Amino acid sequence: MHSTRRRSVRWLVAAALVAVPLAACAGEGPAPIPDAEAPAESVAPDPATQDPASEDPDAEDPATEDPPPPAEPPPPPSPDQLAGLLSREVPASGDGELLVVPGVSSAPAEGDLWQVRVSVEGGLDVEGQAFANLVMATLNDPRGWSNEGFTFARTDTDDYDVEVVLASPDTSTRLCEPLRTFGKLSCRNGDQAVITLFRWVNGTEDYAADLTAYRQYVVQHEVGHALGFGHVQCPAPGEPAPLMMQQTLGLDGCVPNAWPFP
Ligand SMILES: [Zn+2]
Repeated sequence: MHSTRRRSVRWLVAAALVAVPLAACAGEGPAPIPDAEAPAESVAPDPATQDPASEDPDAEDPATEDPPPPAEPPPPPSPDQLAGLLSREVPASGDGELLVVPGVSSAPAEGDLWQVRVSVEGGLDVEGQAFANLVMATLNDPRGWSNEGFTFARTDTDDYDVEVVLASPDTSTRLCEPLRTFGKLSCRNGDQAVITLFRWVNGTEDYAADLTAYRQYVVQHEVGHALGFGHVQCPAPGEPAPLMMQQTLGLDGCVPNAWPFP
């Protein structure tokens, strides 16, 4: 008798404080069930409010506990995450040293094979692998330069055809000389496609609604110079801006377009 009561009291406390044990006990087997029911009935008259109180959380718990396991899938990466940006700050300079992003990938198709190396200036808040992934995915996109017969592999050795560099305004200014970019424009200089962090973060007004598209544009535009393509003009207002148009300076009535073959 005494021991039964002690068990009942202990059960009550447990049920009142934590609803989970009740659910766990009820499901375990025949023995705990009568044990659990008895106190609920005998105590019901005393604290009439305690009974529903202990029942409510009990009813809610399985419901609230179940959803977490199927749990939310991770949210899709933001445009800035896709671009490797860990912050939107644009320091005037990094440490001035270009760090090759390690990693290789083979070209996805036959064609005029170009080896691409990807580097990021040290001291910038940039995740190099994400940046490299976006660069390579863009270059090998079906709307891209593959339509001209080019295909792109990634290398992290000195044996590259073009190096895509993400650098601070000061360093990009230096790497682009004698072109004058003021840290605000990207460039192709020799075998380097130099992208200024200023534009990588901010894009342009024309691309404010789609920074990923601007980033895809600037990668292909600067690499396009390395492939041998020069600047062209907006053919007519309302037309898609040609990829090799200097879209960063304005669209001249054309509409934004990030692809050589949209
Ligand atoms: Zn250009």
